[in-house]
Amino acid sequence: VKGVGKAVFDAEGTAIRFSGTLQDITEDRTIQLRKDEFISVASHELKTPITSLNASMQILQKLVKTEEVSDKIRLFVGKAGNNLNKLVHLLDDLLNVTKLQQGQLALNKTRFNLGDLINDSCEHLGQEDSYPIYITGEPDVMVYADYRRIDQVLVNLVNNAIKYSPQSKKVDISYGRDNGMAVVHVQDYGIGINPEKLPHLFDRYYRVDGLGHQFSGLGLGLYISAEIIKRHDGQISVDSVWGNGSTFSFTLPLD
Ligand code: ADP
Repeated sequence: VKGVGKAVFDAEGTAIRFSGTLQDITEDRTIQLRKDEFISVASHELKTPITSLNASMQILQKLVKTEEVSDKIRLFVGKAGNNLNKLVHLLDDLLNVTKLQQGQLALNKTRFNLGDLINDSCEHLGQEDSYPIYITGEPDVMVYADYRRIDQVLVNLVNNAIKYSPQSKKVDISYGRDNGMAVVHVQDYGIGINPEKLPHLFDRYYRVDGLGHQFSGLGLGLYISAEIIKRHDGQISVDSVWGNGSTFSFTLPLD
C-alpha cells in the first residue's frame, strides 16, 4: 500500500494515526509483471523475423547503390530501410527490458574519450528533422565505460529532446567534469514536464498522461537509460521548467 499524508507515532515509534490517502499498489505491480512477461515472449518471437528482414534490407541497400535501378525503387528502399531501423530500435528496447529484468545486461567496458562519443553519435542525430544540436565540452574527458551502452543513453536522451520539442528547433549538449565525475547535460526547449510527474519519469512503462497521441513511445527509454547509468555507478537526473524545456543529466566515473 502506498500512502500520501501524515502519520502520527506514539512514544515507541508505532504509527497510531494516519491522515491522507492510501492506494493499493498490488494491482499496479501485477500489471507491471504481466507487461514484463508479455514483452519477454513477444520480443523473443519478433527477433528472428526482424533480424532476417534486416539482413535482406542491408543487401538490398547495397544493391541499390551499385546496380542501376529506377529512382522510385531507390526511394522506396530508402523509406523501408528507415522504418525498419525504427522497428529494430523498438525491438532492441523490448529485448533490453527483459535482459535488465533477468540481470543479463552485460557491460563491455573500455577506456574512451566522452567528447568523441558525443560528437560521433550526434553526427547523424537530428538530421532527419533538421534539428541543430549544439555541443560544448571540456577536452579529454576520459571514462571507462561501455561505449555502445552510453551511446544508447545519449541517443535516447537526444531523441526525446527532439520528440518532446515540437515548437523549438534546437538541442544543447554540454559535457565536462564535476565533483570528480564526468557529466553530460542534454537540454531542450520543448514542452517540459509537470513537476508532479518528475518522480515517476524513470519507472518502466511510465509515460506522462494527458499528452494525447501526439507523441508515440513505449515508456522504456528513460528506464533503460537509468538502469545503464546505475550499472556504471553513475547518476541520472532531470531538471525541468514546465512549458519551457527540460535538462537531462548523467554522470559517469572518470577513468
Ligand atoms: P517514451 O518517450 O517512449 O514515452 P521514455 O521512457 O523515453 O518513453 O520517457 C518517458 C516519458 O517521459 C515520456 O513519455 C514523456 O512523457 C516524458 N519525457 C521524456 N523526455 C522528455 C523531454 N525531453 N521533454 C518532455 N517530456 C519528456
